[in-house]
Amino acid sequence: MATPDVPAVEPATSGSVVAARDVTRVYGEGETAVHALRGVSVDFPRGQFAAIMGPSGSGKSTLMHILAGLDRPTSGSVTIDGKEIVGLGDVELTKLRRDKVGFVFQFFNLLPILTAAENIELPLSIARRRPDQAWLDELVGAVRLEDRLDHRPDELSGGQQQRVAIARALLPRPAVVFGDEPTGNLDSKTGADVLRLLRRAVDEYGQTIVMVTHDAFAAAEADRVLFLRDGEIVRDERHRMQGTEILDVVKGLE
Ligand code: ADP
Repeated sequence: MATPDVPAVEPATSGSVVAARDVTRVYGEGETAVHALRGVSVDFPRGQFAAIMGPSGSGKSTLMHILAGLDRPTSGSVTIDGKEIVGLGDVELTKLRRDKVGFVFQFFNLLPILTAAENIELPLSIARRRPDQAWLDELVGAVRLEDRLDHRPDELSGGQQQRVAIARALLPRPAVVFGDEPTGNLDSKTGADVLRLLRRAVDEYGQTIVMVTHDAFAAAEADRVLFLRDGEIVRDERHRMQGTEILDVVKGLE
């Protein structure tokens, strides 16, 4: 197998929405310790749609959770919108996540007792902020939910539920939206629709998106594809890639 193409560590740029420097994450201790991340440095500039790929166990989820402030690194630095998050207390970290980070998960994570409209507005309601009505209307139109707003999640298809989750993630105008296998629970046609919406959020609204995915054809929608292996970034392709090209790289990493 070819030697992995390891990217050089670049200096932090103030334009980065999310940046990691020499991030490590070790689970457990001693002989049974698992080195899930072994010194990851990466910058995500504003308005970029990035995909993180790699074999199972390569550290994708761990990296995403650390970049999003859901988990803490063992060592290293992480900034979101220029603010160092390592070392923040739980209350501050929760507030920063609420203000700066949106999430789109594989299993949608909508609250079953709330309507679509209430789910979309929930992060702002919790923050006691009023939605910008024009922006809310724009998003509801963009995700085609105008006639589903009064429905609860169990009255919606998977694709509709994920569209609710996308509107919920975008409404607070977060610095970054993290996608955790956002198409993983959808059929390919519905998944393609969800990816088109994420793509539009980047192209039309300048949203920064970082998405973990197993799906090469989902990663093919991104502007950049990062490949992890054994807790390290082994390739960083800063351009759109074809799905087949991505599959070839993934095969080479397994
Ligand atoms: P991926 O998302 O690429 O499948 P993960 O980030 O989930 O990879 O896992 C990276 C490594 O860390 C794997 O070896 C996994 O078994 C290990 N790991 C993940 N979470 C934990 C945990 N909570 N405790 C112990 N080991 C873990």
